[in-house]
Amino acid sequence: PHGLALLRDPLLNKGTAFSLAERDAFGLRGLLPPHVSTMAEQADRILKNLRRLPDNLEKFVALNALRDRNETLFLRVVCDHIDEIQPLIYTPTVGEVCQRFGDIFRRPRGLYISTNDRGQIVEMMRNWPHPARLIVVTDGERILGLGDLGANGMGIPVGKLSLYAACAGIHPSLCLPVVLDVGTNNVELLKNPQYIGLRQPRLRGGDYDAIVDEFMRAAQQAFPGVLIQFEDFANHNAFRLLQRYRDTACVFNDDIQGTASVALAGLFSALRVTSGRLAEQKLLFLGAGEAATGIADLVVAAMMAQGISEEEARSRIWLVDSKGLVVKGRNDLADHKLGYAHEHPRVTDFLAAIKTLQPTGIIGVSAVGGTFTPAVLRTMAELNARPIIFALSNPTSQAECSAEDAYHHTGGRALFACGSPYSPVTLEGRRFVPRQGNNSYIFPGVGLGVIASGARRITDEMFMVAAQTLSGLVTEADLAQGSLYPALPRIREVSCRIATEVARLAYRRGLGNGREPDDLHDHIRAQMFEAEYRSYLAP
Ligand code: NAP
Ligand code: MN
Repeated sequence: PHGLALLRDPLLNKGTAFSLAERDAFGLRGLLPPHVSTMAEQADRILKNLRRLPDNLEKFVALNALRDRNETLFLRVVCDHIDEIQPLIYTPTVGEVCQRFGDIFRRPRGLYISTNDRGQIVEMMRNWPHPARLIVVTDGERILGLGDLGANGMGIPVGKLSLYAACAGIHPSLCLPVVLDVGTNNVELLKNPQYIGLRQPRLRGGDYDAIVDEFMRAAQQAFPGVLIQFEDFANHNAFRLLQRYRDTACVFNDDIQGTASVALAGLFSALRVTSGRLAEQKLLFLGAGEAATGIADLVVAAMMAQGISEEEARSRIWLVDSKGLVVKGRNDLADHKLGYAHEHPRVTDFLAAIKTLQPTGIIGVSAVGGTFTPAVLRTMAELNARPIIFALSNPTSQAECSAEDAYHHTGGRALFACGSPYSPVTLEGRRFVPRQGNNSYIFPGVGLGVIASGARRITDEMFMVAAQTLSGLVTEADLAQGSLYPALPRIREVSCRIATEVARLAYRRGLGNGREPDDLHDHIRAQMFEAEYRSYLAP
């Protein structure tokens, strides 16, 4: 590369940090101001400017623009200030980003595949300039708890892949965000002149399945062995697609399996506090979709690993959906709920369900804000010395309750995890530090482990091991302040540990490629991409 081309390639550009010798060698003299900056000086400038911006959407736009100029510096800033930046490039800000995607659109990122591209998807994939190792794909029908956002859903794969690069050191050139634009039923978007997608209703039935199928074949043809993560599909497709491809391709669904793993990790941590056994808990879910049944299935597997039967494990898990308690005899239950439909009279009200069932924990994954009311929280505190309260819905507007409410209405006894970031809460002189049950603790490490071992398939057992590993990294000091997850700045260590255990399992189950390296942890650690400038001059 030469001169301007180097400055315009975000994977190579170092901006004002090009050394004088590099400026000479590559024809950059005069194209940059004379002072040669260090990366730290550049990062400092970025952060100062970022902090002056009035709102999170502006901050997202600024970070995205940085990324378009200099991806290395972008990742450096994300890694070094993960607590501050993750909420800006991922949940909750990414929700608003997707809602306003057309308005803030500047430069495309990722691959847009639409219904117009049928029959040509594999050729299109070859337009992508890098060999992808990891794809995150959405059809935009259930973006966070915000519903159908059509092609605007691209914000989600882009955000997730930023975290793969920052949190697990997967090289950004290996990451490919994809949106399948099969139309949208969001009438507001269809009317919006700035909407970036096709103006047509969603494809359904056989035509929909055919385009997903073509995409799956094309991806594996263009990038053999590529890991494909399904993200934010509506639940009528999510379960089906996972079932269809999980035994023949390297796929997982993060909303089902990643969420399950991070929630199970939170339960393990909560039980470290109470010294309780998972197999003795009774859990009531608000919500009965991808997240709820994903978590429930993994909890059942984990309970069975503690020696109880599947039947008994299932009997300890109850779901409430939009029509009330999921019970036998209801004739409106989708397949994924059937395993949790128990013999019980109908109950339509969540609070009434709590009173009759007396759960040890409630898990909110309904995408309906404010549903853990003060009465719900107080009742849980009456029933339990240390009630488990997980309000996991995203973004913040859909959270079942805030951290403040959870601690306040339980006299500080709640074992609390949230789906959105909350500041520490002080109650009667005690300081609580709630941490997010965010999939970002899990998927980067699982993906790294799968890639590092060359695993051909992704199994539920991998998500179980990831949950155990994550909970094992929570310190006593974390638990003492109410944190059920490790501090976010440890995320690269966390991802590396999870990757190591996932890769180990892959080799043990015969899914890995070749032989397990001797020191797997160091081997994986060494593969992680560090966002640092390299010299482009021969030594
Ligand atoms: P989903 O598959 O669409 O499921 C939503 C479920 O909520 C459905 O079962 C629905 O009932 C139920 N529901 C809707 N309104 C309700 C109400 N008023 N009362 C009780 N239940 C109600 O969505 P999902 O993938 O499970 O995601 C749900 C939420 O979890 C989203 O906000 C998502 O962002 C969040 N989430 C968070 C994380 C995290 O990292 N913290 C991870 C994954 C998901 P019906 O079945 O009757 O329609
Ligand atoms: Mn998701």
